[in-house]
Amino acid sequence: MPVAEIVTIGTELLLGEILDTNTRFLARELRNLGIDLYRTTTIGDNEERIAGILREALCRAEIIITTGGLGPTVDDPTRQAVARALGVELEFHPELWDQIVERFQKYGRQPSENNKRQAFIPRGAIAISNPVGTAPAFICEVQDRCIICLPGVPREMEFLFQHAVMPYLKQRYQLHSVIQVRVLHTAGVGESQLDDWIGDLETWSNPTVGLLAHPGQCDIRITAKADTSEEAARMIAEMETLVRQRCGEAIFGADGETLEAILAARLKQGERRIRMVEMGLDGELCTRLRHSPLDPFCTCQVESTEDGFSPPSPEEMESRDIYYIVSLVKHLDSFSLHLEIMTCEVHRTEQRQFGGAPALVKTWAANIALDFLRRFLSE
Ligand code: ATP
Repeated sequence: MPVAEIVTIGTELLLGEILDTNTRFLARELRNLGIDLYRTTTIGDNEERIAGILREALCRAEIIITTGGLGPTVDDPTRQAVARALGVELEFHPELWDQIVERFQKYGRQPSENNKRQAFIPRGAIAISNPVGTAPAFICEVQDRCIICLPGVPREMEFLFQHAVMPYLKQRYQLHSVIQVRVLHTAGVGESQLDDWIGDLETWSNPTVGLLAHPGQCDIRITAKADTSEEAARMIAEMETLVRQRCGEAIFGADGETLEAILAARLKQGERRIRMVEMGLDGELCTRLRHSPLDPFCTCQVESTEDGFSPPSPEEMESRDIYYIVSLVKHLDSFSLHLEIMTCEVHRTEQRQFGGAPALVKTWAANIALDFLRRFLSE
């Protein structure tokens, strides 16, 4: 399997003025193609430094993809840097220049002399015309390796990657394998508990199993690489069965499913409604519910922890309604969450402690509260 590196070029990336979304896009695309990515680099608009990075990357990887620095000004150094790294001259391509002129004319404008720079690419490079922008892209082949230079503007870069680079990579590196990912969502259990349950599965190399913790939730990501999508799906299904056997009801959903959507489906099915009272979370839970599929099945009221809240007596409760009090209390450097579920038949309470970063406590509390309700509704 070929190894790739990504080099994003632009001083504004290094200064933190813009977020490097190109790396994210390319990393996912490479993963889907079954190409291993071991390193990404961000570098400023400096020809010498870019040339240095490209020379190093050529020693480690078969495929190097750069984005940015292909504009018409002297600050756009990618063409020169690639030529320098490979020890070749830049060469004028009249057909690229024609395309640039044509594109400008389409918008009733004339290209400047500066735009001519964009029609120069390193000698021997394969030109990729750019129907969605002015900066032509190109590929330089060096024995079994290649440097692929794409524009910085995400929309242009993504288009050229999908329409020109992907077919090129598939053909040149005989890429047949596919990568599939399935994410199982758990709530109410910590990362270390999950690690105890499935730690041995996390050492597998294909499919791989990895954990990604969020406050009050943890994702289990299963990734399989195979020659066909059917084979990848079968490998994932087998691993999912194992994971589900070990983690049981801690898993509440998969891929795009959310706690809110799962709860809404249960409430709809049981024709029930929730009357929720939230204290100490500054409205976090109520706001979240209002913008979720739970909204039609739930009323949520914010009360202050000082005033407290007196729940209705069993006689006052309507038969199918569920009263739910969620209260977060701060102690010196920790928080405790009190959960209380009441129906005319059942009274259930739960208490949880949180000692993590205070900025995460409300998200944690909301996730734990929704999960406690989910577990109650599945009984
Ligand atoms: P153009 O000729 O269209 O300017 P270019 O290849 O020279 O293309 P840059 O000038 O480097 O591209 O970047 C153009 C714009 O694209 C930047 O101002 C920024 O908004 C966006 N951009 C560049 N690199 C990235 C990146 N890695 N992630 C997200 N956006 C980026």
